[in-house]
Amino acid sequence: MVRFTVLASGSKGNSTVVSGGGTRILVDAGLSCRELFRRMKVAGEDPATLDAIIITHEHEDHVNGLAVTARKLGVPVYFTQATHRAWMRWLTPRRQMTYAQWLEQCRKQAAEREAEPLNTSPECDASENDPEEIETETQSQEIKAATPTGPPSIKEDPTWLPSVEYFQAGQPFSIGDIGIDPFTTPHDAADPVGFVFRSEGIRLGFATDLGYVTPNVKAQLQALDLLLIESNHDLEMLRDGPYPWSVKQRVLSRVGHLSNDATAEFLSTGYDGQAAYVILAHLSENNNLPELARVAAERALIGRASLLANRLLLAEQHEPLVPIAF
Ligand SMILES: [Zn+2]
Ligand SMILES: [Zn+2]
Repeated sequence: MVRFTVLASGSKGNSTVVSGGGTRILVDAGLSCRELFRRMKVAGEDPATLDAIIITHEHEDHVNGLAVTARKLGVPVYFTQATHRAWMRWLTPRRQMTYAQWLEQCRKQAAEREAEPLNTSPECDASENDPEEIETETQSQEIKAATPTGPPSIKEDPTWLPSVEYFQAGQPFSIGDIGIDPFTTPHDAADPVGFVFRSEGIRLGFATDLGYVTPNVKAQLQALDLLLIESNHDLEMLRDGPYPWSVKQRVLSRVGHLSNDATAEFLSTGYDGQAAYVILAHLSENNNLPELARVAAERALIGRASLLANRLLLAEQHEPLVPIAF
């Protein structure tokens, strides 16, 4: 069975579980490990059965619980190389790191992985889960000062992961029974991507955090059984809303987020109308209303396809969406 479960969607955290054949993948880890596991249980998904985590881009709302969750589960994390590096820089902002130094750190971590047994306990305990408890650079430096000899251990390195795998946009690959087509999205991150997941003849399209729908994104998001696409903001609410102008410009830019209107335009003119389910995602809590997003998409989808297609759902920030099975 192929199953798609949105655990959370929005600027306070993004995570989705994609299952196909005997494989389960967590797409982004934007919630704390404890909250991720809690929501998975609510949605009937067992965290211990996850095989891998795959990351769209390094923004905080997509990686907040990544290190703790990956360590707890002992599963590999799939990134593009540029996203992995950007994530490591985000976790250690005060450390200057050249590309060569970064490669050296990755090499050391790989050597440590060989030497250290993995922690595969599928529970998140409170101390590790608490964001304040995630080791900071300052703490790390203090530990190093106290024990100046030898390389940093796993506990001291906030960027340590049990296993790292790289993929590239435009190059299909597989994790177990799930085929993955990663594609570039226009967004202000190091190397952001969306995905088409393929399993058991079912195709699931996944595109959030993009400033506009490029011709390539459009080409990827066709012949789908499920389409999850961002419908981030209402243009008027954003323009009249509380954000400073610099932030408004960022959201509105070609590397920001899709407005309800932009998503509606794609649904009415750029999409083939075939998906059984269309899920609107990454709705802004400040600059959008679920009803505005829904109405814009409904209008765009009118007359697009048969009664069996385009069932419209809205992904939520604060609770999981009911799992969709094929
Ligand atoms: Zn985001
Ligand atoms: Zn983003």
